[in-house]
Amino acid sequence: MIPARFDYEVAGSVEQAIELLGSGGEAKLLAGGHSLLPLMRLRLARPGLLVDIGRLDELRYVREDGDRIAIGALTRHHDVANDPLLLAENGLLAKAAAGIGDPQVRHMGTIGGSVAHGDPASDLPAVLVALEADLVVRGPGGERTIPAGELFRGFLETALEPGEVLTEIRVPKLGAGGWSYLKLTRRAQDWATVGVAAVQANGSARVALTNMGATPVRALGVEEALGSGADAAAAAERAAEGTSPPSDHSASAEFREHLARVLTRRALEEASARP
Ligand code: FAD
Repeated sequence: MIPARFDYEVAGSVEQAIELLGSGGEAKLLAGGHSLLPLMRLRLARPGLLVDIGRLDELRYVREDGDRIAIGALTRHHDVANDPLLLAENGLLAKAAAGIGDPQVRHMGTIGGSVAHGDPASDLPAVLVALEADLVVRGPGGERTIPAGELFRGFLETALEPGEVLTEIRVPKLGAGGWSYLKLTRRAQDWATVGVAAVQANGSARVALTNMGATPVRALGVEEALGSGADAAAAAERAAEGTSPPSDHSASAEFREHLARVLTRRALEEASARP
């Protein structure tokens, strides 16, 4: 339960963090530490250098950006959950953040850390996929933008290169669109056994699933059925299509498939009833 030996540096800017990441050996960014430190204590991660970006206030904000909302990567879950702009214009993200872990986790964990960690059981990745969010990253080669749907490559694996820092998450304003995030947990503060994010805007629906595979999964069968005029109950029957849920101590794969169908129906009904 004691991490392997590592060096520790505090970055004073994003540029310095990028430099430190490129300084040789296996280096990792440290944001809230609530996913990385448990892995290090189990020795499932053994970075030689931790680059602490947790004090970079320049990456802690929520602001309007035209028809989108820009969120700094170091914005903590508590601040996402309670931000007035998000509560008014993107209640889906605020609600999902409010349901993460417990108050201690929400006051330390960051939206950027949650995304970069790439855990399919985390809530925000599926929500950002359903929102068709954009992720802005900076590295030695400059800045690039990755659509959320292209970020997640496998279990704890993302399209981020080792020397890159995720700096900003851009989400749409949902306006009069409907939304829902529902998850089933075994105990109040557990990760989702299964979660469902649904967005209904401009006559189309997008649905993404938490913990139904090695990455967040877009429920394309459900979206296609809704596009063809199916009602929520009929469309939700297709929720497990294309998924490969795990079997573990929380639930069997079969039970997760059942949960995906039930939660998708409820999420679609809730989204239709909102705002
Ligand atoms: P860190 O642990 O600091 O970093 C995680 C990974 O991301 C590391 O590999 C790090 O190098 C990388 N990273 C961090 N920031 C950046 C960046 N800006 N750019 C590039 N890479 C970066 N999550 C849920 O979704 N739902 C839950 O219900 C939930 N419950 C939890 C309960 C407990 C008890 C704990 C300890 C955690 C829980 N979490 C849950 C996870 C929590 O939300 C984490 O805080 C979050 O997943 C990681 O954010 P962090 O800022 O702590 O990242």
